[in-house]
Amino acid sequence: MKRRHALKMIGLGGAAAMLAQADHGRAESGAAGLTPAKPPEIKLGSIDLREIEAIDAHTHERTFLTASKSNAVYARGFADGGLPPGQFPEKDALRDRLIPAYAAHWEQMPPQVGLRNYIARTYGVEPTRDNLDAVIARHPDATVYYREKMDYERIAAVVLQSESTDPVRPKALFPDDRFVWTFSIGPLIQPGWARDRGITEIDAFKKALLDVVTTCATNGCRGIKLPIAYYRPISFRKVSRADADRALKIALAATPSAFIEGRAPIYDDDKITAALWAYEDYLLNALFVHAGELGLNIIIHVCVALNTLLRADWNDPRGLYHTFTDAAVQAAGTRFVLIHSGYPYHHHVASFISQFPNVYTDLSYISHHPGTLEEVLRVFLGLAPSDKIMHGSDFSGPEAFAYSVDNERRILAKVLADYRDHYGWTDRDCERMARNVLSGTARKVFNIPARG
Ligand SMILES: [Zn+2]
Repeated sequence: MKRRHALKMIGLGGAAAMLAQADHGRAESGAAGLTPAKPPEIKLGSIDLREIEAIDAHTHERTFLTASKSNAVYARGFADGGLPPGQFPEKDALRDRLIPAYAAHWEQMPPQVGLRNYIARTYGVEPTRDNLDAVIARHPDATVYYREKMDYERIAAVVLQSESTDPVRPKALFPDDRFVWTFSIGPLIQPGWARDRGITEIDAFKKALLDVVTTCATNGCRGIKLPIAYYRPISFRKVSRADADRALKIALAATPSAFIEGRAPIYDDDKITAALWAYEDYLLNALFVHAGELGLNIIIHVCVALNTLLRADWNDPRGLYHTFTDAAVQAAGTRFVLIHSGYPYHHHVASFISQFPNVYTDLSYISHHPGTLEEVLRVFLGLAPSDKIMHGSDFSGPEAFAYSVDNERRILAKVLADYRDHYGWTDRDCERMARNVLSGTARKVFNIPARG
């Protein structure tokens, strides 16, 4: 249950986001009174990419925790996530041994090195954890802080994934006029969700699920998130209604041996696991069509990095080809957003976004890693139109999501300079590509109105 708490609704960078937050009690450590420096230009020919507004296509939001608390919580989550699910005698001792290793590991990962250096050049301090804490501690009001950083980095709006299982616009720390929201379907396809509602038949399950999705659309939701690659494959077979009903009854009658993320059941019997995935396939295929008819994007987590729960086999996106070419899905016009670039499957994602006009990707989480971001941007822009690619952070900490867009502009300038100087693209082509990646694609895909 402790892991359930630690990893509840976590995104790929969820833990990272928490760790980017600092200890408010350490305001006195030396950086009080700091004001951000005027940011240097990021030039692409005659264009300053800082003048182009950004939209963050994937963010989370959590209560700010102290660095010491969040570090401990998430190091524990990663240690636990990398161990076999369920209880076994050596588990506690193993976890205790792994926690300090994960805490130290995270401190030297590119997002943290980059963030400390962003703080240093923005506030004129040494790139240390204490100074990061002190900078963040200067901002007691989270909403004011978000607005300040969004204005500083010219982030017009964010797409915020709601943490709630209620299909209503979340009450957010982000300024109310600066976010749209999406909704995670992960908990709603589990046997426990059906059981809690007295649902025993697949028709009733489908109706209850699609009703929630309809309510989402009515309440202004922009997309349905599938975080399911954390606990099952992301390929979806066609299952008949009768087979789905039989499979649901098998799953409802079975006793799980453990749960992933506190909610996705694990069974010792592979036949029961197959039944679970079969009825879920049936529901998800119906969801894809319904979402398309309602104009809701389907947002699928595809990425293996950092979080120890993520498996390469379950994140393999190749089976999505059958979903993208499904006649009912095509008729509904459903848009798919494969988030976090699909890494290490970004070549497959590049292929998909070049093949299908209704498939998009974002650079969330990857955007905190300048070296990998450069590689991924080159792969995407090398194969597909820029209006299929979106900036995103996947983080919630104000300094961390600001660092992510600073990075995005710097790496875009570097990559697009090659298009301009060596590939024969015009200045106009390069500016259009920068505008699309930074905000134009997200504004269109998530229907974000321009601010008056
Ligand atoms: Zn996320």
